[in-house]
Amino acid sequence: MAREVVSGISVSTGIAIGKAYFLNRSISSNLPRQTVPVHMNAGEKERLQYGFEEAVSELSAIREKVPAELKEHKLIIDSHLMMLKDPKLLKASTKYIDDLCINAEWALDKAVNDLEKTFGALEDKYIRERMQDVCQVAQRVQAKLIGGEEHLRPIEGRAVLMAHDLSPADTIELEVNKLMAFVTTLGGKTSHTGILARTLNIPALVGAEKIESSVVDGDLVIVDGLAGKILVDPDEEELEHYYTLQTQFEDYQSTIIKSCQLPAETEDGYRVQVLANIELVEEISAVIDNGGEGVGLFRTEYAYLNRQELPGEEELVEKYSELAEIMSPRKVVLRTLDLGADKFMSYFGSLDEANPAMGLRAIRFCLKHEDIFNTQLRAILRASVHGNISIMFPMICGLKEVHQAKAALAKAQVELTAEGIPFDEDMQVGVMIELPAAVMIAELLAQEVDFFSIGTNDLIQYSLGIDRTNPHVSYLYQPLHPAIVRSIKYVVDAGHRAGIGVSLCGEVASDPYCVPILMGMQIDSLSLTPQAIPGIKRILRQLGMQECKQLLKEVLQCRTVAKINRLVTDNIYKKYPEELIFFASLLDNEEITG
Ligand code: PEP
Ligand code: MG
Repeated sequence: MAREVVSGISVSTGIAIGKAYFLNRSISSNLPRQTVPVHMNAGEKERLQYGFEEAVSELSAIREKVPAELKEHKLIIDSHLMMLKDPKLLKASTKYIDDLCINAEWALDKAVNDLEKTFGALEDKYIRERMQDVCQVAQRVQAKLIGGEEHLRPIEGRAVLMAHDLSPADTIELEVNKLMAFVTTLGGKTSHTGILARTLNIPALVGAEKIESSVVDGDLVIVDGLAGKILVDPDEEELEHYYTLQTQFEDYQSTIIKSCQLPAETEDGYRVQVLANIELVEEISAVIDNGGEGVGLFRTEYAYLNRQELPGEEELVEKYSELAEIMSPRKVVLRTLDLGADKFMSYFGSLDEANPAMGLRAIRFCLKHEDIFNTQLRAILRASVHGNISIMFPMICGLKEVHQAKAALAKAQVELTAEGIPFDEDMQVGVMIELPAAVMIAELLAQEVDFFSIGTNDLIQYSLGIDRTNPHVSYLYQPLHPAIVRSIKYVVDAGHRAGIGVSLCGEVASDPYCVPILMGMQIDSLSLTPQAIPGIKRILRQLGMQECKQLLKEVLQCRTVAKINRLVTDNIYKKYPEELIFFASLLDNEEITG
């Protein structure tokens, strides 16, 4: 038996077996905390200033080493540099030195804690995770203040990298080809660690809270990115099991990648489009390499985050045009901003929404901030001549919002026409169905738009009344709850009756237990993370439409989620027992295998 098994959240699948290598542990536990006599305050402030300056020059040097293809890294390092150069954090820390007569390291820690309290209370997971960026920046300064020694040590041989947290700058300093896996104490599903690991195609777990107390440098560990756990100091039997599983996983990966360019159609010829969800233009190659037939969801908000000023029209035109051009003639669905009112203001601004998930977000925000919306709409229209672009509005809850959003689009079209700037006059316009209210009026909405895209991540959250990021209620995150299955079917039917296409772009689209049910509804397209496409395509190609319809019929007769889960796992798991061990499912793991 392994000495210990630590659980974490898998953000990149696979198995790695190797020696643990600790890059950094939490710096805050070793942080010197001292009071200083008043006459030494000036000296502490100078030290603090010096720490910031040193961190800026260290990070600038790292930035120079970033290879051109890692544009995303450069952007994140730029945002860290911006935070370091922004006087607010320095000022807030300096104030603590003045007010409390404490040393520079401690003062900075207190200023960061204040920010953590503000941002940590927010429901938006993306913003909460960006707080990690602030902590990484502060730790870099503190490391300079404490010792002046290098922030990172070099890695010897290949290793499983363990860290309290891993900033993009840290990963640039490393030779990434020496890394077999990443494991971090902090982090959530959308942290940078996951993005980088998926790009490098190595397993990664985040949120593995116990690694710092359970693992020491040099420990032999197994990182199980399929089940989300780390086995520390495994025994012979476990090693043997995992070496076999690793080989099977690698064989499976190379098999599915070979067939990923085949059309996504069932055994009996029912064709569904398999598209990709991406956030960055740099992910296009992953879409194409994994057999994505287009982009079904481009989350445009990423260009507005990690920075302190809004992107201008020209910058957005360039980004969207590049995306459309490279993907052309494949389609690209650009979702308009899904942000809350506070989300791209300076990290140091104050927030006044008690419940941002239900606040001024997404389309509500855009309709309130006409200028910001207009800039984005103009950019999307201008880019539309470079490829096959569609637009969709998120979080629609009523017809009025659709009318207002379409009016804003029409206004941008009139402006461009007057300016003699071309755009695609037939650009398709869709809405996301993410709120129970939108489900109930799907028939009415279908009269107004060219397509629907069902966002189950939010639809489940709002239908079942559970915060999708709250671990205490994660047991209620049930994609096959009868209410969810019926809602999806209701929307698909309403769309089809009106003659419009219906797509699904939530995580449900990459769940092998849910996909057959969606197929039974005759969904038109699925949009999922690029890396999940080959596996889902392969499952799809082995399905028969009749069996999917029959399964759906039986699912609709079930009265409880437990019965549905049992029915589905009986059918699907039994059909692909060897294959499904390589998938992460949204369904309860015990219900699948138990
Ligand atoms: C969704 O809600 O299902 C969705 C795809 O949007 P996001 O995850 O970006 O909220
Ligand atoms: Mg959503």
